[in-house]
Amino acid sequence: MDNFDYDLFVIGAGSGGVRAARMAAGFGARVAVAEDRYMGGTCVNVGCVPKKLYVYASEYSKAFSDARNFGWDSSKPAFDWATLRDNKKTEISRLNAIYNNLLAGVKADVIDGRASIVDAHTVAVGERQFTADKILIATGGWPHVPSFPGSEYAITSNEVFDLEHFPERLVIVGGGYIAVEFAGIFNGLGSQVTQIYRGPLFLRGFDSDIRAHAAREIAKTGVDLRFELNVESISPAAGGLQLQLSDGSSLEADAVLYATGRKPNLEGLGLANVEVAISEFGTIIVDEEFRTSEPSIFALGDVTGGMELTPVALAEGMAFARRQFGGAEYAVDYDFIPTAVFCQPSIGSVGFTEDEARAKFGHIRLFKSTFKPMKHTISGRDEQTFMKLIVDKATDRVVGVHMMGPDAGEIMQGIAIALRAGATKALFDTTIGIHPTAAEEFVTMREPWTED
Ligand code: FAD
Ligand code: NDP
Repeated sequence: MDNFDYDLFVIGAGSGGVRAARMAAGFGARVAVAEDRYMGGTCVNVGCVPKKLYVYASEYSKAFSDARNFGWDSSKPAFDWATLRDNKKTEISRLNAIYNNLLAGVKADVIDGRASIVDAHTVAVGERQFTADKILIATGGWPHVPSFPGSEYAITSNEVFDLEHFPERLVIVGGGYIAVEFAGIFNGLGSQVTQIYRGPLFLRGFDSDIRAHAAREIAKTGVDLRFELNVESISPAAGGLQLQLSDGSSLEADAVLYATGRKPNLEGLGLANVEVAISEFGTIIVDEEFRTSEPSIFALGDVTGGMELTPVALAEGMAFARRQFGGAEYAVDYDFIPTAVFCQPSIGSVGFTEDEARAKFGHIRLFKSTFKPMKHTISGRDEQTFMKLIVDKATDRVVGVHMMGPDAGEIMQGIAIALRAGATKALFDTTIGIHPTAAEEFVTMREPWTED
């Protein structure tokens, strides 16, 4: 070990890389981290954090109009994009500095620049070379835009936060997390938003009732949702962009956001110099220790596929550091990972969808509830909350919980603990609610919607 410059060389200072580096250094390892763009990675700079700040910004427009029936004599104030964008920049710079300090605090060396693997124990950053006993690839993902005439006019989530001019007319292509979240954000901020999805119903992978409810609720907010449609070309037009669509129609926009998935960030990483196996999806293949097929090289986070979420990358970073440098056998438990889509209203989900549960358990009981949130009985806003519990009939265990409504992400975090603890429907039923909340509905759904 002593012959190497470092015990661990981490490539990528994102969620997984920083967590692994900090913990390994805390265990006494000599650690370096190479980063070529921004400290904190996708989540801090162009992901979760700025996205959530923009969600908060966009929710004000509804709050101003909701307030009127509660007695507030208010008119809707004007929105200034530059103020939001620049305040966001200030906050992200603050977080970048915190990430730098966290690594400095554990005496990990931060090396600025794009890293490339030279051999199983050597990494180059620019002209410099570093040797390490172990190399960790935590390079995350990069937005993928399909190639078609005019695709160069499309922007991605990397650019959308910092647009110079606010897009009055925005087209969003895709039907996953990013597409629905940004449709809500820009709709709330005042853009005229058209969301185009290639299939019959967006949010593939989520429970079918949630997907249908989301389509109804999001359409009500004013987003022009268009399914079974593709963009054939984009070309410049007077004052904007012109889109030709697969149904023969055309559309004008100020910006076109492609949210059509992300690919592992392997560009220039030098993997051809080592024996790191890649899957058919382009992700790095690892075992449960996060070891690649090259024994001294490890990988974790988005670059390995799986659930591409910050808390997953963090958990993997911790498990890696504990096992390799902390002397503890420690595996990540991927069961019942909760997730939220910060659309408006938001979606929270944990466990199996109805289709997955039926395939896995055979006989299931379903509990569903649709209701108007108490706030909107006075605000007048036409919005419905939806909740669903899926129960394995044989064991009475609750195996899936799904919700669309205000604070769904906040509510689902606690429900996830209950599901991981093996909570039965009987336990939900004997849990006393908190009144008046929406969440209490989860412990008061008595009559099954269906059982089979
Ligand atoms: P990243 O955080 O992507 O970090 C990788 C780092 O490696 C980057 O800083 C990159 O610059 C650097 N890098 C790459 N190649 C090299 C190289 N060769 N040399 C040096 N450095 C390199 N997840 C959630 O849980 N909740 C959310 O609300 C959420 N919202 C999101 C919103 C958006 C718009 C996006 C795009 C993602 C969102 N995610 C969210 C996903 C989350 O950001 C990722 O799952 C998470 O950042 C993955 O962490 P990571 O460590 O694998 O990679
Ligand atoms: P997703 O994989 O979630 O969605 C991609 C969407 O693009 C799908 O609807 C897909 O359709 C569609 N698509 C793919 N290729 C094409 C194409 N060639 N033409 C038209 N449509 C296409 O990716 P995102 O980019 O939305 O987000 C990436 C990941 O980041 C997410 O999966 C998630 O893990 C993470 N993330 C998490 C968030 C959170 O936790 N709140 C927020 C944002 C991102 P189809 O379904 O038909 O394949």
